[in-house]
Amino acid sequence: MTSPGDAHEPDDQILGTLRRVFGYDAFRGPQREIIDQVVGGGDALVLMPTGGGKSLCYQIPALVRPGTGVVISPLIALMQDQVDALRALGVRAGFLNSTQDMDERRLVEAEFAAGELDLLYLAPERLRVDSTLQLLKRGTISLFAIDEAHCVAQWGHDFRPDYLQLSALHERWPDIPRIALTATATPATHAEIAARLNLTGARHFVASFDRPNIQYRIVPKSDPKRQLLRLLREEHPGDAGIVYCLSRASVEKTAAFLVENGIEAVPYHAGLDARTRAANQSRFLREDGLVVVATIAFGMGIDKPDVRFVAHLDLPKSVEGYYQETGRAGRDGLPSTAWLAYGLQDVVQQRKMIDGSEGDDEHRRRLAAHLDAMLALCETVECRRVRLLAYFGQESAPCGNCDTCLTPPKSWDGTIAAQKLLSTVVRLKRERNQKFGAGQLVDILLGRKTAKVIQFDHDALSVFGIGTELSETQWRGVVRQLLAQGLLAVEGEHGTLVLTDASAEVLAGRREVPMRSEPERPARTASPGRSGKAGRAPAADLPAEAVPVFERLRAWRAATAKEQGVPAYVIFHDATLREIATAPPASLAELGTVTGVGENKLAKYGQGILDALAAED
Ligand code: ADP
Ligand code: ZN
Repeated sequence: MTSPGDAHEPDDQILGTLRRVFGYDAFRGPQREIIDQVVGGGDALVLMPTGGGKSLCYQIPALVRPGTGVVISPLIALMQDQVDALRALGVRAGFLNSTQDMDERRLVEAEFAAGELDLLYLAPERLRVDSTLQLLKRGTISLFAIDEAHCVAQWGHDFRPDYLQLSALHERWPDIPRIALTATATPATHAEIAARLNLTGARHFVASFDRPNIQYRIVPKSDPKRQLLRLLREEHPGDAGIVYCLSRASVEKTAAFLVENGIEAVPYHAGLDARTRAANQSRFLREDGLVVVATIAFGMGIDKPDVRFVAHLDLPKSVEGYYQETGRAGRDGLPSTAWLAYGLQDVVQQRKMIDGSEGDDEHRRRLAAHLDAMLALCETVECRRVRLLAYFGQESAPCGNCDTCLTPPKSWDGTIAAQKLLSTVVRLKRERNQKFGAGQLVDILLGRKTAKVIQFDHDALSVFGIGTELSETQWRGVVRQLLAQGLLAVEGEHGTLVLTDASAEVLAGRREVPMRSEPERPARTASPGRSGKAGRAPAADLPAEAVPVFERLRAWRAATAKEQGVPAYVIFHDATLREIATAPPASLAELGTVTGVGENKLAKYGQGILDALAAED
């Protein structure tokens, strides 16, 4: 692939800004084209995955065009950090939102009116007050950037009514270019954004949704907390990461479990008071190596670049959700792990939740379709990434960096097993008028005389003990896969299992049932991380002599970040520190050529780095 930057003149102002201000060598993916479009005064609708590099697409045009770039963003809690990060680069940035007092607001307003800001971040609710429009009229605007643009979509779960006001901006400033950005991939949302923002004439840019540095792994769930602990200890010691759980209770339990086992972890969910939540989020952003255990309430807009793993202890409700959440790993491009533990209970629970959900049948059908797509991803014997990208309409080849590529699972003909299990359901219903959950069915198939089997006289059934060729784990796998394939259904409060319309085809021998093998010792996760591509402590796989240097630089960064009250990554990313540690520069000029070291950071931190390099410990 040729670098888009190469096609332009060496004295090119846009490329120059990338190098001078941000310290990066070349543009990524469609960044250059997008920037050209906006600098040229055109509108753009940008679809790019999390970590794809959306911010540069409006930050550079705002620096190149005269006036202030106005950025509408719903992520109020993160504006301070975003502005700090820009200021560290020497960019004149400010924000206006409800967290500020009058004096702070006045100051920013004065800077804007005096033309002293390159970028102004605005919370959408500011658009409701007339004084904001009056203010905007007093300055020169270079562009409007609409971040998290899917918030304008009425049917999405992030809908913000204030986003509808954005069309008023366009009516007032029809000639100012607009750029709308989102990581939400579905074509329907895309079309709705274009329609509601009146962006029908905009050029559309769709980046690849592949995140090659993320290793996708989906493992059978047996003892999830212990499986997680093993993953963290063996592959991610000292790393920052996010662990997602479905319920508040399991968030609390899992966080406590990790802390008991010597891992620094904090909980995050909507049931915590706002102060604790903000404090935990802020610690996660500011400290190195903290683990957040959270419900999906956590994460939107978190642009911490060095999240090394995202672990799911429960099945996400949709592929979109899974993709968004896992996308928070590895924004810095370094190897990262997306790990999901998934089991029979997840399927039972989610099917029950859908049955009991409010709304009409159509709504339930939609939820079920989302779940089915997620289950298909879990049960596939093909490359996970190929499946994932195909879901977003993008074609690809097997990736070599997911569990199914690294350790291809075996598939087997599960038709007979399926028939045995389904007949057990049939017998119970016909002969006893009973329904049971997975546990009892498996006990019957294995011929176990448990108290409950004896109580219900189930050892007298003709199917009792007909399934001893498989283990309990394997039978649970069979149930799970039948549920995933819609050949069995969950009913009611107790998760009892019943036939579906499609079950008859299997019982009649008209339909084969391919299945994915269950690893016999499911507690052991495959560790493809050993292959060297992913899953390492930040310092691992650096040359031995670079490790102490890297640690020294990290300590310097932590101290500097604390002193200045900014997150560590605002100073330098891990990737930059790794590059410095591997080939320590001898002078400021040499340091200036390292990726991520722009002019301003060189001036501000250059000497500090050289001193840290010179210090022996
Ligand atoms: P998004 O908003 O799309 O999730 P960001 O704008 O936060 O992504 O960018 C993700 C990371 O990639 C950031 O750390 C950013 O500094 C880095 N980045 C963006 N563009 C480039 C580039 N051209 N070269 C190197 N790093 C880049
Ligand atoms: Zn793969």
